[in-house]
Amino acid sequence: MNSNIKIGILGGGQLGRMMALSGLPLGIACRFLEPARESSAAQVAERIQGDFEDYRVLYDFAQGMDAITFEFENVPVESARWLAERVPVWPPPEALAVAQDRVTEKTFFASQGIAVPPFAAIEDRADFDAAIDRIGLPAVLKTTRFGYDGKGQMVLRDRAGAEFSWQTLGGRPLILEAFVPFERELSIVAVRGKDGATAFYPLVENVHRDGILRKTTAPAPQLIPGLQMKAERIVRQTMEALNYVGVLAIELFEKNGELLVNEMAPRVHNSGHWTIEGAETSQFENHMRAIAGLPLGSTRVTGSSLMLNLIGQIPKREEIMAIPGAHLHLYGKTPRAGRKLGHITLRCDAVNEMADLAGRLESLIG
Ligand code: AMP
Repeated sequence: MNSNIKIGILGGGQLGRMMALSGLPLGIACRFLEPARESSAAQVAERIQGDFEDYRVLYDFAQGMDAITFEFENVPVESARWLAERVPVWPPPEALAVAQDRVTEKTFFASQGIAVPPFAAIEDRADFDAAIDRIGLPAVLKTTRFGYDGKGQMVLRDRAGAEFSWQTLGGRPLILEAFVPFERELSIVAVRGKDGATAFYPLVENVHRDGILRKTTAPAPQLIPGLQMKAERIVRQTMEALNYVGVLAIELFEKNGELLVNEMAPRVHNSGHWTIEGAETSQFENHMRAIAGLPLGSTRVTGSSLMLNLIGQIPKREEIMAIPGAHLHLYGKTPRAGRKLGHITLRCDAVNEMADLAGRLESLIG
């Protein structure tokens, strides 16, 4: 009999929970390291509660693991590198380093010849003024690090807005980006195995509100011909350049038939949750397969999917489950305003069955 494969995961939120659940039937057992007392992942797998920078904790965490991965993108890169000297860490810590700093990230894409919005790195007021002169307004000012779900960023529409944004965010490393009047936001999730094999999910369309993902439609409706190929080229090149293993997500702006990279996530991604029901193999299972050195699973799509995040509150489960094709995923978290508590995927065989049911679902979620 095959013995269990043991995977250590840094971070113990819902992404880790869904990874562990997907690994279980494959004989993959997970151990989490998560500092917070409350942990979605700890409800379904072993968890060590401890700090990412406590090397004694890291040592214990790594014992007996066949590979280590992460579900949280702000894991200290030094800790990931330290672990990688002892146990294989996938994706490579270098990918983490690139994704953690918006300037490093945009510089990386630009160096690959991959289109990004015009940007400038800002350390001080003189840089800020020069960046506005060069990039113009409107623009978006963001902290280079620890920004997520729209936190640490402001849109600058005019000179007064620019002054206010400097008063609010100035004094830290920042990036100024041209404001992109995009037609819509898309993302692509892909996976690369240790042998260099790759697989791609289709481009999906994402709707954000207050910087938080609310809705993903998969595949993205009315894609212009060739766009999927362009996205696959971007993500393949990125994975090859980083010697990547595991799932990678890239967020994109669509404008005039072209794609601009907004950012990448070196992990499973919220815009890939629909793959649990909507694809032959989910992003979570494919991530586990990749880092365990197993063959990748098919990314073939099974119908049309709509994923809605449950933010701050959870509607009545009976009402959700009464909708045909609706699949409820709760993360076991204490409700709090603005917190991702779960998601629902509505899966239909054909896109024309979707509108009616989607309307019912959206009215329940509010
Ligand atoms: P981010 O944290 O960089 O993913 O930004 C959060 C959201 O802000 C994105 O999903 C976009 O809706 C918007 N956004 C970010 N950067 C830009 C930009 N350069 N131009 C227009 N909108 C942006």
